Amino acid sequence: MAVQYEAVIGLEVHAQLLTKSKLFCGCSVAFGAPPNTQVCPVCLGLPGALPVPNAEAIHLAMRAGLAVGCEIDRASVFARKNYFYPDLPKGYQISQFELPLNNHGTLLIEGDDGKERAVSIIRIHVEEDAAKNIHGAGGADDTLVDFNRGGVALTEIVGAPDLRSSAEAETYLRRLREILMFAGVNDGNLEEGSFRCDANVSIKPVGSEKLGTRTELKNINSFRFVRKAIDYEIQRQEIVLAQGGTITQETRTWNEAQGKTISMRTKEDAHDYRYFPDPDLPPLRISDADLARARDALPELPAALRERWQREFGLTAYDAQVLSAHPRIARYFETAARLIEGEPLDKAGKRVANFVQAEVMRYVATEGLSATFPVDAARVAGLLKLVAAGTISGKMAKDVFEVMRTDARDADAIVAERGLAQVSDTGAIESAVREVVAANAKQVAQYKGGNEKIFGFFVGQVMRATKGSANPGLVNEVLKKVLEEA
Ligand code: ADP
Ligand code: MG
Ligand code: ZN
Repeated sequence: MAVQYEAVIGLEVHAQLLTKSKLFCGCSVAFGAPPNTQVCPVCLGLPGALPVPNAEAIHLAMRAGLAVGCEIDRASVFARKNYFYPDLPKGYQISQFELPLNNHGTLLIEGDDGKERAVSIIRIHVEEDAAKNIHGAGGADDTLVDFNRGGVALTEIVGAPDLRSSAEAETYLRRLREILMFAGVNDGNLEEGSFRCDANVSIKPVGSEKLGTRTELKNINSFRFVRKAIDYEIQRQEIVLAQGGTITQETRTWNEAQGKTISMRTKEDAHDYRYFPDPDLPPLRISDADLARARDALPELPAALRERWQREFGLTAYDAQVLSAHPRIARYFETAARLIEGEPLDKAGKRVANFVQAEVMRYVATEGLSATFPVDAARVAGLLKLVAAGTISGKMAKDVFEVMRTDARDADAIVAERGLAQVSDTGAIESAVREVVAANAKQVAQYKGGNEKIFGFFVGQVMRATKGSANPGLVNEVLKKVLEEA
């Protein structure tokens, strides 16, 4: 019988720290500047230039560590990782090796079995980014180098090989990204590469303790590609082993066009890099005050937030999850929900949760993270207050919301100007109802004869007669009464 294998996956995530300047110099890290305009002797690796650690970067890296329960090393050490590449002018990257800043964290994920599980984070260290090679930019054979990115402050979050499928890997990445965004450490932008992932994949016979040889899938920049690349790689390895081959420890890349992983180079081991403590940088001493400041800066994290929302706003676990996928949306939701007065929190919460998911988040889905919210939380609250009060229907709220996207006024002004307010005046509705009933004797007879489906016809007629402005609840009520009497 064929051997049954199971996959083992460990992720390394590089997350750009939200600093204004680079890790060891004062150069700006603003994204999208013309190439090689944000450089200096330090980040260009000119001889004699000396690195000075960016205090804010260290603070943010500690915050990242604390957010996933790491222990902080009060005297971690910067090390040189030596290798040659055109995007690395010094010939080494300043990273941390034996003594990283953060150790032993955990991340909770929902596993494939549906149960919550803790995945170990081995370490989170601080390092500088390499520059960016732009292949084929000058001509097909040219590679240009943009040093703007060189020296940007990163953390590398090294996860244990605790994951068992591409789905678990995706969940891990989503949870990690959320935590880093909520902690204010990273912007979570995969497209711009400020959150990127290397996936290490191996397979082993089911039940075996010994891990198989891994391959490393480099720099995957979308959740979808992570899953595809891992699934492809698991299958590829199974086929190699089934044919009696062996897995080579190597670095591979996901080629989306071909739908497969492709070998880039055999993988170096740590000893190939000849790591050693950087003589330009003394151990990084973290004082009690530094540590306290990082702890104090840690806001409410997504797991706690979701629990609170379920309690306070009566949200389902699903809604809480969706609305907390990004701190901007979370803030938006909570601000709006608290502004709806005259309704209990759980009712207002549910109302706002539905509307934000259906209408506001639509634009996040199509425009991505750069989506703007032209209708801010306060204006949406004003709009939904009108629904809560019965002034406009839920359906009209959607139309008004569309208008508000390009009209800076509040909902009441737009509703008043366009005469959109629902008629909740029973007298006006009753006269419309009576007219419709009088004009449709045949249908009234059918209704009386037991055809209850025809009720919808009357509702439609009344809505048409009132140009859709009648409060539907009232129309139903009044219609029933008038038809009884007819
Ligand atoms: P490197 O930095 O050279 O890639 P590490 O030893 O730091 O090497 O390991 C990096 C990652 O590889 C970790 O995320 C770890 O979980 C993962 N990993 C290690 N061994 C395996 C394996 N056999 N299968 C899958 N992942 C692995
Ligand atoms: Mg690696
Ligand atoms: Zn610089």
